[in-house]
Amino acid sequence: MSTFQELGLNDDLLHAITDLGFIKPSEVQEKAIPILLESETDLVALAQTGTGKTAAFGFPMLEKIDVNSRTTQGLILSPTRELCLQIANEMKQYGKYCKGLNVVAIYGGSSITDQAREVKRGAQIIVATPGRMKDMISRRMVDISKIQYSVLDEADEMLNMGFKEDITDILSHTPEEKNTWLFSATMPREVATIAKKFMNAPQEITVGNKNESTSNVSHEYYLVNARDRYQALKRLSDANPDIFSVVFCRTKRDTQKVAEQLIEDGYSAGALHGDLSQNQRDLVMKSFRNKQIQTLVATDVAARGIDVDDITHVINYQLPDEIETYTHRSGRTGRAGKTGVSMVIVSKSEVRKIKSIERIIKRQFEKKDIPDGSEICEVQLMSLANKIHNTEVNHEIDKHLSSINELFEDTDKDELIKKFFSVEFTRFYNYYQKSKNLNVSDDGGRGRDRDGGRDFGGKSNSTRYFINVGSKDSFDWMKLKDFLKEQLQLGRDDVFKVEVKDSFSFFNTENELKDKVLAFFTDFKHEGRFVNVEVSENRGGGRRNDRNRGRRRDDRKGGGRRDERRSDSRNRGDRRRSEGSSKPRHSDSGNSSTFKPRRSRR
Ligand code: ADP
Ligand code: MG
Repeated sequence: MSTFQELGLNDDLLHAITDLGFIKPSEVQEKAIPILLESETDLVALAQTGTGKTAAFGFPMLEKIDVNSRTTQGLILSPTRELCLQIANEMKQYGKYCKGLNVVAIYGGSSITDQAREVKRGAQIIVATPGRMKDMISRRMVDISKIQYSVLDEADEMLNMGFKEDITDILSHTPEEKNTWLFSATMPREVATIAKKFMNAPQEITVGNKNESTSNVSHEYYLVNARDRYQALKRLSDANPDIFSVVFCRTKRDTQKVAEQLIEDGYSAGALHGDLSQNQRDLVMKSFRNKQIQTLVATDVAARGIDVDDITHVINYQLPDEIETYTHRSGRTGRAGKTGVSMVIVSKSEVRKIKSIERIIKRQFEKKDIPDGSEICEVQLMSLANKIHNTEVNHEIDKHLSSINELFEDTDKDELIKKFFSVEFTRFYNYYQKSKNLNVSDDGGRGRDRDGGRDFGGKSNSTRYFINVGSKDSFDWMKLKDFLKEQLQLGRDDVFKVEVKDSFSFFNTENELKDKVLAFFTDFKHEGRFVNVEVSENRGGGRRNDRNRGRRRDDRKGGGRRDERRSDSRNRGDRRRSEGSSKPRHSDSGNSSTFKPRRSRR
C-alpha cells in the first residue's frame, strides 16, 4: 500500500490531503493516480460509490493543469446538480493551496448569467451537468475548445438519465487530442459503447468486481403481499429504532405518497424527487444531512447526488426496473468504512429478481421475516431503556424532587419503572397488539397469524361490509381505507381487506365495530350522495352476488346533486379529521425514538 506521496503528488496537494485527514489512498486512487500522472492517456475506471473516485481524477487533474493560465483546461461532467456541487467543492478543497485555481460549477436551476460571469473570470476547471453545459455552449458562454482533460463521472448514471446526446454534443466542442477519463460504478453496454466512441485505447482499471456491491453492505429481502408493502416498511423502520435510511420507490408519485403517509404516521420523513422545486429539494437534503429527517424517500434519479456517510439502511420499497440500479441504491449505505443494510420488500411476483440481482452484485441475499408486533415492542422498549440509561440527568429537576418523591412514596422501584415506561410504551403496544403476520411463505400461502389476531381472509371474528362507493368516486383501496378510518375515527389497522370495484367496494372490521360502522353510515353523505354501508354476506369469494348488488346501488346515484353538496361534506370531513388527530395512534412514534411525544404536525 503506497502513500499519497509515493503516488507522486505535489506538495500543495499533499498539504491539502493532510488537512482533509486522508491517511492513505483508496484502491481506485492508488490505481488511477499514477496512471493519470505519468501518461497522457484515456482511462476507464470502474469502482463503487464511496470509493473515492473524485480524488482519483481530481488530484491528477489539479496536478496537470496550469493555474497561471486562465484558459479552461479541465471539464468534469456529472449527472446531477447535487453531484456537480459536491465535486466542485471537493476540487476546491483538494486545490486550496494551488494559488490562482478557479473551479466553477455549472448546473441548472440557478442563474446562468452568474455562472457565465464566474467562468469569464477564468475557470481552469468546470464541473457541469450536461444539460446546462450544452445550454451555455450554445449561448457561447463557455469556451471548451482548449480542454485537455475531460471526465465523465458516474457515466452509467448520465446515460441512464438520457444524457447521451448532450454528452456527444458537448464533447464535439472539445479538441480531439484531449484525454478522457470515464468513471462509473457499473459497466452496462451503453457505457462500453460510449467508451469506444469517445476514447482512444483507454487503460482500464477495476476496483472490486464490475457491478459488485461493497462488502460492507449486507443484503436482505422480505417477502410480503404487495398490498402490505407499506406496513412492512413501517415495521422494518420500527424494528430499527436508530435507523437513518433512504427508501427507494420506483415512481415520483409513489415516492411522494409513501413520504406523505410516513409523515402522517408521525415518522420524520421527507420526499426527494424530480417534481419538487430545487429549493424544496435543497431543504429536504439539508434536513436529511443534519438528521432532522430520519427517513428519506427518494426516486433513483433524485437520490443520485446523495453523499451522506451515515446511512444505516437502504430500503427498496419497490425493486428498480433495471436491476443494475440496485447496485447504486445499496451503495448509498456502507460508505466510508461503515457497515450498512440493504433491504428489499418484495412481492411474490418479483421475487425471482432477487436471484438476478445476486448474480449481478455477486453477493447473497438473506431472506428474513418482517418482525411481528411483539418483537418490535421488545426492541423499542429496550431501546427506550438504553436511552434512559444513557441520559444525562438534568439537575433542574432536583428542586422538584421532594414533591415527586412524595407522590411515589409508596411505589416500589419495579412498579415505578413499569409506570414510567408505560407512559410511552402503551400507545405503541396498543398499535402492534392487533398486528398480523405480514410474511408470505415461499410455498404460496400467507404465513400463519402469529399474533393470534385476525388475518386477511375474513375470519369469523370480522365483519365484511358492502359500501356503494368505488373507483368511479376516485377511491382506490388506500384512499378508501383512509377515508373510512378518518370518518369512523378508527385505528390504523381497524379497517382491512379493502377491495375497491368500479362503483362499490368491500371492507372488513372486527365484529365489535359493526354497530359503530352501521350506525355511522345511516345518514352519511359523501360529495352530496348518500353513502350506504351494509353487512355483506360475501366473505371475499362470492363476487357475482356482490356485483349485482353494486349495480343496484349504482342506479340510485343522484347525479346532478353532487357538486351542490360538496362543500357540506367537505366541512364535515375536516371537522372529523381534526378530531381524529387527537386519538392515540402509532403515528406519534417519531424520530430516533418511536416513543417520541406527540408532535403537532402540519
Ligand atoms: P465516489 O465518487 O467514489 O462515490 P467520493 O469521491 O465522493 O466517492 O468519496 C467518498 C468520501 O470519501 C468523500 O467524503 C471523500 O472525501 C472521502 N475520501 C476520498 N478519498 C479518501 C481517502 N483516501 N481517505 C479518506 N477519505 C477519503
Ligand atoms: Mg463520485
